[in-house]
Amino acid sequence: MKIYNTMSKRKEEFVPLEEGKVKMYVCGPTVYNFIHIGNARPMIVFDTVRRYFEYKGYDVNFVSNFTDVDDKIIKKANEEGVTAEEISKRYIAECKKDMEGMNIEPATKNPLATEEIGGMIEMIRTLIEKGYAYEKNGTVYFRTRKFKDYGKLSHKNLDDLQSGGRTLLVTGEDEKEDPLDFVLWKPKKEGEPAWQSPWGEGRPGWHIECSEMSKKYLGEQIDIHAGGEDLIFPHHENEIAQSEAANGKEFAKYWMHNGFLNIDNRKMSKSLGNFFTVREISEKYDLQVLRFFMLSAHYRSPLNFSAELMESARSGLNRIVTAAENLKFLIGNASAEKMTEEEKEKFEKSKEYVDSFEKAMDDDFNTADAIAAVFELVKYINTTADGESSGEYLESLLKRLVSLTDVLGIIVEKEDEILDADIEALIAERQAARKEKNFARADQIRDELLAKGIILEDTREGVKWKRA
Ligand code: AMP
Ligand code: ZN
Repeated sequence: MKIYNTMSKRKEEFVPLEEGKVKMYVCGPTVYNFIHIGNARPMIVFDTVRRYFEYKGYDVNFVSNFTDVDDKIIKKANEEGVTAEEISKRYIAECKKDMEGMNIEPATKNPLATEEIGGMIEMIRTLIEKGYAYEKNGTVYFRTRKFKDYGKLSHKNLDDLQSGGRTLLVTGEDEKEDPLDFVLWKPKKEGEPAWQSPWGEGRPGWHIECSEMSKKYLGEQIDIHAGGEDLIFPHHENEIAQSEAANGKEFAKYWMHNGFLNIDNRKMSKSLGNFFTVREISEKYDLQVLRFFMLSAHYRSPLNFSAELMESARSGLNRIVTAAENLKFLIGNASAEKMTEEEKEKFEKSKEYVDSFEKAMDDDFNTADAIAAVFELVKYINTTADGESSGEYLESLLKRLVSLTDVLGIIVEKEDEILDADIEALIAERQAARKEKNFARADQIRDELLAKGIILEDTREGVKWKRA
């Protein structure tokens, strides 16, 4: 399996730090508004990366933060006359709804910056002790030049940065030892959230948040660190400097970055009036279409969003869903149960599309080619499955199709809503099974219902149930 590593600028064979495990950190959004469709791209892309690792049998520890303290959050809070916490909590909840709509698997952990301040302070303290950081009037700066590898990810040269840096100095930063130094801790300003620290009340800089949260939830060394390409510099470069200076170890082995999403070939921006939130898009399209659209291009290429391309994503997705529905219909009506010898051969032949799918995904997650393989499988299904096919053949094809669409996070099997009457009937059957001391069957029914989102509760008054 090959991954393009921004650090080496080439595709490298993936070798996990620990056999069978992947430790992955993806920089999450700053929560001051509904997420926009640009933010959705890394979510969808890296969720698909995670799903493919899981498909390959890896145990993935997937951590993605919410940046819940930031100038933009504070500004929004002041505009609305509410606390910053109210803003961040509101938009984290909204973001999670959008993520569910895009079928993003919940992360192993979504740390919040504001809940990890203690660890950040410790890390800054270590950096000061090691001579990599210094305090001036309540602000702590990172001593960039002391970290010899600075610039290794973004392939920037310190001297070029230096000449640009001078002109970039803003007022109040003239106390820095060097224009290249960046902030680890900033002192409190009136009306801003702040925490106690050895350097007075204040809040952490953005970069130290990810260094600390990654370390706390994944350890000092991780396999993959990811985000949009705008994060390469300075965010990820600074994360590397902080983490490697503090821990004395290589931080992440693979650095993955998605390309940008543009709209009608222009950069998405509020002032150009071509800015869409995921929520707005969800009013026009099923978010599955947005997901499918995002995966139709290679994750490192720029991607253009347009109504036309969304329409084509919609029809492509429909083709796949229709094939799955057709199979289900045929399964319901199949007369023969077992596969014939001829069908066994045909099924074996369909493996070819799984191989091309995997080959594409193994090549730096080429989802565009992987989708092409799914279309080939769909074509094969449409030409070889019919009313004469055996149930086993049809079911095997459906399973094969779903195993691939699951990697893409595309749902082709709509969950059939279970009716209240069916639930009651199953509960009655469970009670009868228990009476007969057939606990295996009773447990099986409980699990079956749970899989459909029905939770049973045994009470003194009898069995109660609710939908999760
Ligand atoms: P932010 O909330 O700005 O920190 O962004 C959260 C994530 O979305 C980061 O990984 C960004 O790189 C990514 N991102 C922001 N805008 C875009 C865009 N237009 N296209 C692709 N990714 C983006
Ligand atoms: Zn980050």
